[in-house]
Amino acid sequence: MKKIEHIGIAVKNIEDSNLLFEKLLGKAHYKIEDVVSEGVKTSFFKSGPNKIELLEATSSDSPIAKFIEKKGEGIHHIAFAVDDIRKEIKRLRNEGFTVLNETPKKGADNKLVAFLHPKTTNGVLIELCQEIDDK
Ligand code: ZN
Repeated sequence: MKKIEHIGIAVKNIEDSNLLFEKLLGKAHYKIEDVVSEGVKTSFFKSGPNKIELLEATSSDSPIAKFIEKKGEGIHHIAFAVDDIRKEIKRLRNEGFTVLNETPKKGADNKLVAFLHPKTTNGVLIELCQEIDDK
């Protein structure tokens, strides 16, 4: 794992939260993106070298809708940047972590992503993300 890539925050209304985080961070989001496969609308903010990802559910069976139903709004996941996501998945599985998707999938922000089940990570949903090389 290279570094924390971003922190994901589940919100009920992304327009309201965009305004709130704009006030908080002193600048607007730099990107909005629908991730249709996950049933979420995302919005990204920069804070120095770090990023915040806001996530709003776009359907009632979206993982974000279920999260908010159970726990309310708040920190949803921590994402770590990795160089080789397939290698990292193998390594973490061998270490005893439960990988939710063995095959990396296309996430927001031009990344390949995989998640670790929070039951094996002290209750924190962990995202691994690898930049997709377009070249
Ligand atoms: Zn994320």
